[in-house]
Amino acid sequence: MKLYGGIEAGGTKFVCAVGTGPDDIRAETRFPTTTPAETIQRVIQFFREQPEPVTAVGIGSFGPVDPDPSSPTYGHITSTPKAGWRDTPVRDMVAEALGVPVAFDTDVNAAALGEHRWGAAQDVDSFIYLTVGTGIGGGCMVEGKLLHGLTHPELGHILIPREPHDRFPGICPYHGGCLEGLASGPAIKARWGNQAESLPPDHPAWLLEAHYLAAALASFICTLSPQRIILGGGVMQQAHLFPLIRQEVPQLLNGYIQSPAILSDIDRYIVPPGLGNRSGVLGAIALAQQLDAEV
Ligand code: ADP
Ligand code: ZN
Repeated sequence: MKLYGGIEAGGTKFVCAVGTGPDDIRAETRFPTTTPAETIQRVIQFFREQPEPVTAVGIGSFGPVDPDPSSPTYGHITSTPKAGWRDTPVRDMVAEALGVPVAFDTDVNAAALGEHRWGAAQDVDSFIYLTVGTGIGGGCMVEGKLLHGLTHPELGHILIPREPHDRFPGICPYHGGCLEGLASGPAIKARWGNQAESLPPDHPAWLLEAHYLAAALASFICTLSPQRIILGGGVMQQAHLFPLIRQEVPQLLNGYIQSPAILSDIDRYIVPPGLGNRSGVLGAIALAQQLDAEV
């Protein structure tokens, strides 16, 4: 039986796993993201220590990245503000050390693929996986294929109308008050002075958070026409956000999009990940399987 490697390359931590799916993970490890050289060395060491070799490896990476296989910088992390990681050829480093085929995509596209294969999107083929955590990012599957386009979607960096009373400038180094600048975990902390996880459920932070996320989802629904929206990431651990968002999205769309999914079945339309916090690493394994099936 063939085994596959998955690497979730996050800006805060890396997760590596070997196996064939959610019910068959043979080994798993996680460690903090430090320098590229040190972090990738730990990745390589983990796979070399395995009793059985992997057939292929998949990487789902924080970004921005170059996911275009025909580009000379394919598999590189490109313009990231994360210190030391700009222009890092992550895929090449892993492929050269392990000598197996290596698939590469964004962390959120990998998570979307994982959710499609084993999680909350098994019955649809056009959907969005949005993570609301240290950053905000979205993976998109469109008619069965992961969407890349020009580079890859950057759903966290869309500009959304500001609430008139909101004077917070936002924290995105590129755009100030884009969605990520207004509504990521660090934005909540900067705005209210406390870690998001320490704010009580009745804190005004959450109504505003739900409002900005609902505004973003209404835009995504109008542009990408997803059949489902999965919301993951640390901030979405606040389960009370789901009913607030589900209530506001149809109000913002105001009856224009005539789909039962939105008009009468929103609880099954805007959902948490079926794989919990493992969508990314399992999706990376799915990327590896997909590549192996192609070659
Ligand atoms: P990352 O984005 O680094 O992969 P997470 O998705 O866990 O990791 O996001 C971390 C962010 O989510 C932090 O800003 C943190 O404050 C916030 N966060 C983590 N857990 C919770 C929680 N239970 N409630 C609200 N915010 C949380
Ligand atoms: Zn931005």
